[in-house]
Amino acid sequence: MSKKLTSRAEDYSKWYNELVVKADLAENSAVRGCMVIKPYGYAIWEKMQDELDKMFKETGHQNAYFPLFVPKSLFEAEEKNAEGFAKECAVVTHYRLQNDPDNKGKLRVDPKAKLEEELVVRPTSEAIIWNTYRGWIQSYRDLPLLINQWANVVRWEMRTRLFLRTAEFLWQEGHTAHETKKEALAEAELMNDVYAKFAENFMAIPVIQGIKTESERFAGAEETYCIEALMQDGKALQAGTSHFLGQNFAKAFDVKFANKEGKQDYVWATSWGVSTRLMGALIMTHSDDNGLVLPPSLAPNQVVIVPIYKSEEDLEAITNVANTILSELRGKNITVKYDNRTTHRPGAKFAQHELQGVPLRIAIGARDLANGTVEIARRDTLTKEVVAMEGLSDKIEALLKTIQKDLFNKALDFRNNHITEVDNFDEFIEVLESKTGFVSAHWDGTAETEDKIKELTKATIRCIPLEGIEEMGDCVYTGNPSKRRVLFAKAY
Ligand code: AMP
Repeated sequence: MSKKLTSRAEDYSKWYNELVVKADLAENSAVRGCMVIKPYGYAIWEKMQDELDKMFKETGHQNAYFPLFVPKSLFEAEEKNAEGFAKECAVVTHYRLQNDPDNKGKLRVDPKAKLEEELVVRPTSEAIIWNTYRGWIQSYRDLPLLINQWANVVRWEMRTRLFLRTAEFLWQEGHTAHETKKEALAEAELMNDVYAKFAENFMAIPVIQGIKTESERFAGAEETYCIEALMQDGKALQAGTSHFLGQNFAKAFDVKFANKEGKQDYVWATSWGVSTRLMGALIMTHSDDNGLVLPPSLAPNQVVIVPIYKSEEDLEAITNVANTILSELRGKNITVKYDNRTTHRPGAKFAQHELQGVPLRIAIGARDLANGTVEIARRDTLTKEVVAMEGLSDKIEALLKTIQKDLFNKALDFRNNHITEVDNFDEFIEVLESKTGFVSAHWDGTAETEDKIKELTKATIRCIPLEGIEEMGDCVYTGNPSKRRVLFAKAY
């Protein structure tokens, strides 16, 4: 086993980068800002996809697929969206390479193969999708249109981090069309709620649902809903967004429908997305200095069984017992692996499964066989206990549920202990410098104040919490009146 991870206290960011690589989740690639997701990391992403996909379908959505390329003229149709993403766009200008006459063995773009119209590699797909919807929507009978796409997108990010911010990332993007403003708003809220439920129940990550301020809003949206999570270093992470797009895209792409009165009206829209950034959220919420900690619902292997043996006969006897446990656990839909590799010693196996966050490890040795016991180790608490073989699968099933719940509660306690109400600016700065986390403070509602606070403290308004109560107060910076508190934090 390679040397230990850098600890979180020593260097959080180094810990994160080392963990992603050592736990075999992903690595940097030959392409600037783009990562290779390795099989173990991809298996976790697939689990997220499966669950989200199920939740989308349960709420009436269907999957479809649209092109990677967006002709520039379509891309620029919705001006605000185009302007917001322009600086991050990769653009295809040519469609052919040829031998370079001045540089033997090298290729160059064929100057004769210049595209008539440049193609933008999608940073988000509203443009190509709304251009398509024009042909799909004629009357109120065609609505609502509830579509999701699983895809990759490209945003030419300058500062990238594995999973958290990459130039190419995997995501899903929902794009829906509705008859009324009310319905579209309800959809945007519903999907934000789906994200919150997914994060909390499945990923064991507590999130705060809220709306973004105008300056943090998605380009082209009228309202952006979000889920915000808190990482162990006290920085916030935007884990998902759901946008109410008004009629902006319908107007830009001329998508009208005949309403029930027979009058033509523009369609109302939403879009919503979560990305491979969720892998980063998962890692930074639960993991520790020994490596990854996975909630059972996302673990590719929920249980691993390691035989401890000296002789071939021991191994055979242990394997017999292990096979019984395997089939019982599989009967309960628990994913379990028997790690009987002869190439690795038990200690090395333990270290690997710990680093990779397998929630439960069962060790079986010759003495266990004699006693009718096994040793169970929990990854989240690093505790071990010797338990009877009798009733083992029920015990494991219950333990996995407990671990899922404990991880959520631990993260929730941490999050709640890192929300500090603050009423003056000195305290605001002090909290951000010492304790970090979310600072709940009054804000006068202006972009100028928001910018000034960002400039002075690097903290941004993460969201105006949906559950926030009306409470009159004075803006923490200007002292001007404010109707409610908002959440500030330094963020990823
Ligand atoms: P947006 O379309 O900007 O609302 O983003 C949709 C989702 O993708 C949000 O959950 C973002 O946090 C996430 N996201 C945005 N940019 C990146 C990136 N460069 N890498 C990974 N995820 C991203």
